[in-house]
Formats: sequence, C-alpha cells, structure tokens
Amino acid sequence: MNRRTFLRTANLAAASAMLSGCARKNPAIFNPAMNQAALAPVNLPESACHIPPVHVSEDRVIRTVVGLRPHRRSGFRVEREQLGDTVVVHNYGHGGGGITLSWGTAKLATDLALKGHTGPVAVLGCGVIGLTTARMVQDAGFPVTIYTKAMPPDTTSNIAGGQWYPASVYDDALKVSESFTDQYLAAAKYAYERYQITTDPRYGVRWMRNYSVSRTPIQSNRGRDRPRIVSGLDLLLPEHRLLKQEENPFRIGYAAQYDGMIMEPPMLLNALITDFRVADGKVVGRELKSTAEVRSLKEKLVFNCTGLGAKTLFDDKELVPVRGQLTFLLPQPEVTYAALFEDLYMFSRHDGILLGGTHEEGNSSLAVDQATVKEKLTAHAELFASMKAC
Ligand SMILES: Cc1cc2nc3c(=O)[nH]c(=O)nc-3n(C[C@H](O)[C@H](O)[C@H](O)COP(=O)(O)OP(=O)(O)OC[C@H]3O[C@@H](n4cnc5c(N)ncnc54)[C@H](O)[C@@H]3O)c2cc1C
Repeated sequence: MNRRTFLRTANLAAASAMLSGCARKNPAIFNPAMNQAALAPVNLPESACHIPPVHVSEDRVIRTVVGLRPHRRSGFRVEREQLGDTVVVHNYGHGGGGITLSWGTAKLATDLALKGHTGPVAVLGCGVIGLTTARMVQDAGFPVTIYTKAMPPDTTSNIAGGQWYPASVYDDALKVSESFTDQYLAAAKYAYERYQITTDPRYGVRWMRNYSVSRTPIQSNRGRDRPRIVSGLDLLLPEHRLLKQEENPFRIGYAAQYDGMIMEPPMLLNALITDFRVADGKVVGRELKSTAEVRSLKEKLVFNCTGLGAKTLFDDKELVPVRGQLTFLLPQPEVTYAALFEDLYMFSRHDGILLGGTHEEGNSSLAVDQATVKEKLTAHAELFASMKAC
C-alpha cells in the first residue's frame, strides 16, 4: 500500500487500542510492559488552524539526495534457507517501509533461527535492517559480526525520509498472500511499539502529526468490509480523523489528520551503530560476491540484510530499485508536522525540511535530476501558499 492508497482507504475511526504485539512472547528480547519510558507526545499541534507554513523557495534549498528503495512486488522476504552447513535467514526487500518495519522484521527473522543455535552469528549489511537484526541477536546473547560493503552514511537507509508508515512495501495491484499479511502486520505492530521506547533523543524518534490533503472527498470506511491489511494498520495510527472544512489549514479540498512517528535516519543509524559497538559487535568491511563466499564464513548462522544487494548475491529476480529523490530546505524548527498531498510529502526534521514525492520503478540512477528538483519545489510552494488562517 502506498501513501495515496492509504489516504483513499483510510478508516477514520480513531484507534486507541492497546496493542498486544508478538514481542511479548519473548521478554528477554523486548517486553514493552517492562519499560516505563515511552515517547512523550510532544509538539503535536492543538489545532490544525495554527500550524505554521513551510517557506519554499529555491534559495532555501540546502541539498538534494537520491536513494533506491529495495522493492519486491510480493513484499519483503523473511525466510530461512539452508546452504550446506550454513543457515541463511533472509531479511530484505522492504521497499519504501524499511525504516518503519525494521525492528519488526528483525524480530520475525531472529525468531526463525536463534532458538537452539549456538556459536557466533553473522549479519550481512549495515543499513537499518542489518543493524536492528544485529542488535536483536546481541540482545539474545550471541556474538555478532556485521560484514558489509558500505556503512552509514553511505546506505539507502540514510537517505530515507523516516516517516513511520509501511508505505510501498508490496504491489497494490497484487493480492498478497495470507502468510505475507501475517508477517507484515506482526512486523508493523512490533516495530510500532519498539520505536515508542526509543526515548533517548539520540535515536531521533518522536511523534509527529500528519495532514493528508486531497482534492476529492476522503471517505470514511467505517463499518465497511475492509482488507485485513488496511484495518490492521488503522490500529497503529492514533488520532485519525477527517478534518471539518473550517479546520482544514489548506485551501485545497479536504484534509485528514493522524499521528505517527518520525525516525530521523541519520540519528537513528548513528545510535544503532553505537549500541552495536558498545555490545561488543564487530564490523568487517567486505562485499560478499557469491553464496559460496557466504558459506565459507566461519559463522554458521547468517542473516542476509543486504537490501538491493540481494538481487545479485542471492539472484532475486523480483527485487527492483524504486528511485526516490528528496530535496531539503533550511530547517524550520517551528514546523513540527508532516503534510502529504497527491505524490508530494513534507516532513520536518532537525537536518532540514524534507520535500519528497518521486517513485521511479526500475530507475537505478543516483544522479540528482534538477528538473525534478524544480518541479517538486514549485508544487510544494503552491501547497504551502494555499494555507489559510482558519
Ligand atoms: C527517497 C526514499 C525515502 C524513503 N522514505 C522512507 C520512510 O519515510 N519510511 C520508511 O520506513 N522507509 C523509507 N524508505 C525506505 C528505506 O530507506 C528502505 O526500505 C531501507 O533503508 C532498506 O534498508 P536495508 O537495510 O534493507 O537497505 P540498505 O540501507 O541499502 O542497507 C543494505 C546494506 O547491505 C550492504 N550490502 C549490499 N550488498 C552487499 C554484499 N553483497 N555484501 C555485503 N554487504 C552488502 C550495503 O552496503 C548496506 O550496508 C525510503 C527510501 C528512499 C530511497
């Protein structure tokens, strides 16, 4: 599901359900009930009427970055495979939702292999998926070595916007399997709770209000027979409601709001690497070129968290790059919300105002496209110029 589909199919019932989560089965790894701390609901606007506009102009641009989302039509792959005497657990292909789902699929992956294992463990890849998986393996008491071609800040994970929402993880046009739906919802719930206890500011995680703006009416699906995957995610978006016309801060059509988290990737990845090293983790700079090389590692349990790298390393023909380009403006600390409109999205972060909105399947160019920079600046400028006092 992508951000636009979500807006069209959103359940507008506010969700206040207490989440149980698969995590509670294993208190040694993570038990939310044992954690007193939770993210404070700071900086959530009292009313949409008083939110400050973003100042969009070319002379406020500070950088533009490009990344390639590791997309699979059928969704991420968390699966165990036996390669001779080596057990490989795959954990890759998270599309546009890898930051969001990371702790969740790390939990699924570690559940597939740690029980009964003895000895050291290898993790391939040092993006958000490799780091969260490695941390979970360490928490379960195993020594871990990360083997990686590149480290932060040179990973796709560093490029991500960091909104908590598992967007564009599978192909909307495809009916995903029940077993994938189970994995997706379990991972989303677990990660949702896990991020809430990363209260130390060094992780860059906080609550953020989202305003979704639409030219056409946003329908309430309350009471309809909605797909399990949609209703499951609704539970993870508190304060979700359609704004009345007089509450809509934009002059464009219709708006809804919901609360979610933002995990600022540069901060998050730094904090995870620090935690990994403090727990005696080792990082080896090495690109694995073949499955034979994987089998020759001394560790006999290997987590494959190579993102798009799995395409060649494990010959996954389903993996495709989905190119995304983000332009940053000077930070505006008074802007604490996110805005989403058609293909556009704006998140306010410490390191700048992020303007996004490109998804180019099959394009693996990492070069900045200046025409797109201009196009997105113009479109965002129009969106924020439409703001009114209400
Ligand atoms: C523009 C953009 C915006 C995004 N916004 C969001 C968002 O708001 N929210 C969200 O949840 N997600 C978002 N994403 C998606 C997110 O970035 C990805 O899903 C996530 O980063 C994937 O993480 P990863 O660890 O699998 O991959 P990566 O970060 O690419 O890490 C893969 C690691 O594997 C290593 N590697 C690869 N091949 C090999 C090999 N052969 N041997 C050894 N090491 C290898 C690499 O060097 C790297 O360290 C966005 C992505 C983009 C591009």
